[in-house]
Amino acid sequence: TLPDIRGDVTFDNIVFEYEKGRPALKGISLEVKEGQSVALVGHTGSGKSTIINLLCRFYDPVEGRVLIDGIDLRDVTIDSLRSQVGIVMQDTFIFSGTIRDNIRYGRLDATDEEIVLAAQAVNAHDFIMSLPDGYDTEVQERGNVLSMGQRQLLSFARALLADPRVLILDEATASIDTETELKIQEALKTLLFGRTSFIIAHRLSTIRHADNIVVLDHGTIVEQGNHDEL
Ligand code: ATP
Ligand code: MG
Repeated sequence: TLPDIRGDVTFDNIVFEYEKGRPALKGISLEVKEGQSVALVGHTGSGKSTIINLLCRFYDPVEGRVLIDGIDLRDVTIDSLRSQVGIVMQDTFIFSGTIRDNIRYGRLDATDEEIVLAAQAVNAHDFIMSLPDGYDTEVQERGNVLSMGQRQLLSFARALLADPRVLILDEATASIDTETELKIQEALKTLLFGRTSFIIAHRLSTIRHADNIVVLDHGTIVEQGNHDEL
């Protein structure tokens, strides 16, 4: 199992292929210090999701190693990884149940107070309170009680409550109104504070604020640096 981690992440000369002879990553080396945010950018098929897949250990590399705090992920169980590496996916996962249950997912021991605090911190509390039954409002997996922006804020509240040391975020591309957009930006800052993060970034504002912007092309890193450097 993985001990309590600080959140240093290293990709050490990673080669990966889904199909033999067709490498999706061709020698990726990347060092990320505890608390840093990395924006992964690049054209479709450049390898952004593949990097995330390896960090989540959905796959193991063909060559090279992925390390967290110097520990090879091959030596770590998926379960112990899950508790410290959190994921917020693009098509934000909402299940049928109350808003409260949806936020609490992954932290079943959380108190009502903790749930409200998390929602407040990511600007989700006000819209939740405007729903017919507040935190007890029932939502459906494929229902449309919630807008895309609201779903995103809800998933942020869930992630904040789970409080992983390393957070992976596949930013939604859906167009969102300006007001919600601002709320999301602000919430993102709160959510990322003090943890290591990897973001497949689509918003310019997110890219601008990243500590390290990593530009991928055909499975290699072609450029990296912060917004001022690139
Ligand atoms: P996008 O912006 O479209 O999400 P991406 O940068 O996330 O693109 P990846 O999904 O990492 O790109 O894909 C990298 C390469 O791996 C591509 O050539 C892609 O076709 C291939 N690939 C991705 N997933 C699979 C899979 N499950 N099986 C086979 N090949 C795959
Ligand atoms: Mg992708």
